[in-house]
Amino acid sequence: MTTLTALSTEELEAFTRAMGMPAYRARQIHKWIYQAGCGSFDRMTDLPKDLRARLSAEARVRSLEEVGRQVSEDGTEKFLFRLSDTESVESVLMFDADRTTLCVSSQVGCAMGCRFCVTGALGFRRNLQAHEIVEQVLHARERLRPESDLTNIVFMGMGEPFQNFEEVQTALGRLISPGYVGLSKRKVTVSTCGHVEGIQRLGREGPIVNLAISLNATTDETRSRLMPVNRKWPLKELLRACREFPLKPTRRITFEYVLFAGVNDTLEDARRLVRLLKGIRSKVNLIPFNPHPGSEFSKPGDEQVLAFQQVLVEAGLTAPVRKSKGADIAAACGQLKAAYTARQKGPKPN
Ligand code: SF4
Repeated sequence: MTTLTALSTEELEAFTRAMGMPAYRARQIHKWIYQAGCGSFDRMTDLPKDLRARLSAEARVRSLEEVGRQVSEDGTEKFLFRLSDTESVESVLMFDADRTTLCVSSQVGCAMGCRFCVTGALGFRRNLQAHEIVEQVLHARERLRPESDLTNIVFMGMGEPFQNFEEVQTALGRLISPGYVGLSKRKVTVSTCGHVEGIQRLGREGPIVNLAISLNATTDETRSRLMPVNRKWPLKELLRACREFPLKPTRRITFEYVLFAGVNDTLEDARRLVRLLKGIRSKVNLIPFNPHPGSEFSKPGDEQVLAFQQVLVEAGLTAPVRKSKGADIAAACGQLKAAYTARQKGPKPN
């Protein structure tokens, strides 16, 4: 069965032509899929009924199926999707006063092995295709509308986006293209654990969306311990790639810094962080670690977090302390999937 989101505009035209439809039908269907965010043929009301029935027999609009959803006390929603090969991924919808952000996955599992990450512990299964990434956005938008809409997308879910460069690049193109999802480049962020080749390639080839770096340490020794990627691309190379990234004049690179008690949360770390980021237009998000079962790390005390923040602020950095969203439903990326996989392996619920 053909999945329409997997087709380019030209392929969709060829598909409808092969079904004997005039060219304008492809344009109608395309609009329903991407602008109206419609997930089924039934709702494509300007297509004749018999045509909708023929389309349903030969194709489906999207391939992702929602198989789990959890809503946190703070309103955060996590979706678990089954893919057509029965693998699964998750996306997280987060609500702030002025924006609604979807955190999308780019891979099933992840090979980068960050020690604090549940997804990393699951290992790598496969890359997502571009349409599987875009579908996460279409699905969330369909849920939100007509009351509200998505304002921001972050590639911060399962997987390292730059390990799946081509598909992520195609997905980015569709997310920002006015003919597809049509979000502003300023509203889309790719977050990497420090994949220097990917940062450089995105800088050369675009699209130049926002860049976020999961930094989490100020020395190579600590960072390599937390994030094995640092052995391949140490801090100096990573920060050089950040300095050379062709940022738009008013933009900044976001550095995510998860604070682990007794690991990377000293005032000396804070001072080193200030020195490392010198010359980079940056913003630092400080995120006290949200421990999950079996984690070897713990959360620093509030005083330690505030003292750390103070050093950054006094040095002129923007450094808000962020709370982990949806802490009560699944603390870190990959936890909903981990729970789903465990359920599938264990006894079936009644
Ligand atoms: S933090 Fe991101 S890059 Fe690191 S293992 Fe988890 S998903 Fe992969």
